[in-house]
Amino acid sequence: MRYAETGFNLEIDLSRGNIERVETDPKLTELHLGGLGTNARILWDRVLPETEPFSADNLLIFSTGLLVGTPAIGCNRTIVTTYSPQTLLMAYSMMGGFWAPELKYAGYDKVIFRGRSPNLVYVWINNDKVEIRDASHLQGKGAVETEELIRQELKEPKAQVAAIGLAGENRVYMASIEHGRSSASRLGIGAVMGDKGLKAIAVRGTKDINLARPAEFMKLCNQVLQYIPIRDKNPVPGVMPILAGLGSPKEMAVHDEKWHTENFSWGNARQRIKDYWNEEIHKKWTESMENVRTRLISCYNCPMKCGAIISVPGISTYMMKCFSKLTYAMAAFSDLDFGFRIAQRATEYGVDGFSTPQVMAFGLELYEAGILTDQDMAGIPSDNEGRFYWLLDRIVRREGIGDVLANGTFWAAQQIGKGAEAYAHNNIKKHEQLPLKLSMLNPVYFLMYCTGEKANITQIEGNFPQAPFPTMEEREAFVKDWIQVPDEKFKKYLLDWEPRGERSNPYYPTVEMSCEIVDWQEKMHYIDDALGVCAGLSSFPLKPPYHIHNYPAFISSATGIDMDEAGLTQITKRNRTLVRAVNVRRGLRRADEKPPEDHWKKRFPELEEKLLDAYYKFKGWDHQGIPTKESLHELGMDYVSEDFEQRGIVKNEQS
Ligand code: SF4
Repeated sequence: MRYAETGFNLEIDLSRGNIERVETDPKLTELHLGGLGTNARILWDRVLPETEPFSADNLLIFSTGLLVGTPAIGCNRTIVTTYSPQTLLMAYSMMGGFWAPELKYAGYDKVIFRGRSPNLVYVWINNDKVEIRDASHLQGKGAVETEELIRQELKEPKAQVAAIGLAGENRVYMASIEHGRSSASRLGIGAVMGDKGLKAIAVRGTKDINLARPAEFMKLCNQVLQYIPIRDKNPVPGVMPILAGLGSPKEMAVHDEKWHTENFSWGNARQRIKDYWNEEIHKKWTESMENVRTRLISCYNCPMKCGAIISVPGISTYMMKCFSKLTYAMAAFSDLDFGFRIAQRATEYGVDGFSTPQVMAFGLELYEAGILTDQDMAGIPSDNEGRFYWLLDRIVRREGIGDVLANGTFWAAQQIGKGAEAYAHNNIKKHEQLPLKLSMLNPVYFLMYCTGEKANITQIEGNFPQAPFPTMEEREAFVKDWIQVPDEKFKKYLLDWEPRGERSNPYYPTVEMSCEIVDWQEKMHYIDDALGVCAGLSSFPLKPPYHIHNYPAFISSATGIDMDEAGLTQITKRNRTLVRAVNVRRGLRRADEKPPEDHWKKRFPELEEKLLDAYYKFKGWDHQGIPTKESLHELGMDYVSEDFEQRGIVKNEQS
């Protein structure tokens, strides 16, 4: 019997209309757990590195995490993997909500799509009955609207639906996949879904998941449930409000946006407004929020309520979570009220709330600079908000200049030329990043920005505080109950970290310490992404309920696989290395691993080189960031080094 997982994937060939239920190899679970780990393995084994993202041969994998569907709190992530049209590298965006648990209850761990349907279709998975259905009547419909229409058509109000909007259908590079309370937004995975002619996937499942040692597992779940309210009642003092508690950043509950509005950049990720927040703005934004937020909501089996139902009078209700509350407002130099209004349209279109506002602000900057002309922008309204709506409509329809901007700032700048490249200034690996511009280089963040392959810094940061606490008293109070540290030395790193002087950024944490801190944080994200646990309860917040000391017991009692911290660390390292290997085969090298030039004002080129050298070494990678033969052997991944050798990757580049 298989525990925690179902042991079956659905393989759907959209070109032929073929559907197969395929038993999976339990050895792969032991090697990679599930979710991101096994997705990476499938991509490595089955998709040639030369494959174009918009190719029938590219796979689009919807995966549950290994513990999804079990009673583990907040374990509900769908991990979607493919080759990204934006970065051309591996994409693995995630969504919360209810879709992944429903898929597990229908009897599948993953749905793997290949091929390309000649007509727009949707897939209906109802336990053992799986159909590919015509979706021509859904063409052009909004993503949220589509979810509801499908539920009505199927007469199944409990079906969980993941859908794309117009942006995905038109292969807009920043197209997302939307699902009720969440979305998988980054890296253009919605565009790949559109390219496959797949409008939506509806799922209904009513089966059980088996656990190896249920009593032991339930005890662990109860410990997490008991810890959450204790932690929530004790917010961490001295950090910004969204980081004081648990969950994904509590943007829907928090009213005080002083930190974001004054530290993040407005417009095309350029301009800080240091004295933006005042009493009047606070009052206005609070009113805007309270007028439209009808209630706070959670994902499957989670008490945290990170999302909210937003009802703006005159437009359809939608769900919002996290930072998209601010991205449109700040890109347009507008206010929260505008942000809530335009985000509704953007959600129906199905676009990424990080990239899209920046792309629109980039277009307007080019217009102001005379690089885009009146002819390019013929018909654009004169008012600022009108311009953003106008651009959004054109981008998702790929009309006129929208067809160029739909490829994101990096590719659009290449197409436009005439110096437009300098305006696409906020990218890493060809992808728009947080609009954050700071003063002094932070060595830990430097490494995360450079080397993270999730293409968004927030997705590999987490358990170590973002900045030093000013006083020793505060630091001592913080480390007192810091049980999540993998090693006591991390407490000392934090105790010694000063805001100014010798033990401050950029030379403290030291190069070695920075490597260890980044590795710890990234490790936690990789565990979450294999298990399907929401980062909001594990790798993202300070002092979370899940950590390296209790995860092995969760895995052992759920799956029956013997697991300890060393074993889990080894699996995580294997998964991390495999993602790197997939991307190395796609051409990723050291030259790609750099933060935006203007991310920090004070840069230290020599130190930055040292950091990258040391981190690569720490990870078992060579000077170019390619996993070495020795480190691959130690992880049981000789098949990767053989492939590197055959392709001339190591012979030519690894010393
Ligand atoms: S912590 Fe928030 S985002 Fe995460 S599962 Fe719970 S409600 Fe969803």
